[in-house]
Amino acid sequence: VSTERLRGDPVARRLRADVRDRVARLDGRGRVPTLATVLASDDPAAARFMDLKHAACDDVGVETRDCRLPADVPPERLYRTVERLSDEAAVDAVFVQTPLPPGASTLGVGERLDPRKDVDCFHPANRGRLVAGDPRFVPATTGAVRRLLAAYDVTVEGRDVVVVGRSAAVGVPLANSFVRADATVTVCHSHTRDLGAETRRADVLVTACGVPGLVGGSMLSSGTAVVDVSANRRPTAAGHEVVGDVDHGAAEGVVAALTPVPDGVGPVTLATLLRNVVLAAERRAGVGPEADSSPPASWEV
Ligand code: NAP
Repeated sequence: VSTERLRGDPVARRLRADVRDRVARLDGRGRVPTLATVLASDDPAAARFMDLKHAACDDVGVETRDCRLPADVPPERLYRTVERLSDEAAVDAVFVQTPLPPGASTLGVGERLDPRKDVDCFHPANRGRLVAGDPRFVPATTGAVRRLLAAYDVTVEGRDVVVVGRSAAVGVPLANSFVRADATVTVCHSHTRDLGAETRRADVLVTACGVPGLVGGSMLSSGTAVVDVSANRRPTAAGHEVVGDVDHGAAEGVVAALTPVPDGVGPVTLATLLRNVVLAAERRAGVGPEADSSPPASWEV
């Protein structure tokens, strides 16, 4: 089997070009989209993701505010910071990087966010709208996986989609999005009795569990399109390497299609976040749609 590589870069480039045009239009109205980010973790991967977001914003003309707090910051201080940034008139969007400090929750953060600036969908009202099929913002990772599949003509309608991982940030919104796109969806997690039995029968397999090499060759079938969302840092003699949840060496030549790690979902997630920031800014300027309907047909952009 010749495995098709679902590379993220071409998709991310198209998205960024669209974002640049929209930033320029806002600029013409005297508005510069502004994203405030909050990092309260000393996890090197989280710091790296944060730096990438700032560089990506810079690249498309989005202004940023960079707020870094100690990894042991008390939840109430984190929440106050989020609230203050969210209340600032010049800020269009707020993004809080996970992992959160001890005692803090995504719900706690979400409740402090202005829902109109909540570009990664932490606010309970935005979560509810997402489930109801009328999202204000589609979370960046969910949007990225849908766009990547659409860009490579991998359909999900009527097919068996298996999602490994059920986090509120990644697995659950993804599974929900596939259900709404008429896929038959199975969600696996750490209590799943026979993970291989589930992954083997997938038409589309999406892994987001953060366990390097969890899905080995014997758990994969020919014909499956595999989207490996995870970017795990694994120590090597020379430092570290970034690997997914799937054993890519074993998957290559077996499955029909596979996202590389890195350079698969990651760059598209980043570009989708930028798009959400611009969407938030457009709405505040009175030019954007209230709902981010992003029907499957429009996942191309
Ligand atoms: P998380 O909150 O730690 O959730 C991990 C999920 O995986 C949980 O639902 C957990 O099950 C499940 N899991 C763990 N071990 C398992 C096992 N042995 N078998 C089956 N399921 C297992 O992580 P997250 O925030 O969703 O992130 C997941 C991954 O995506 C991470 O590697 C992260 O780096 C990556 N990520 C990538 C992007 C991107 O754009 N590429 C964006 C965000 C996150 P339980 O619920 O039962 O514990």
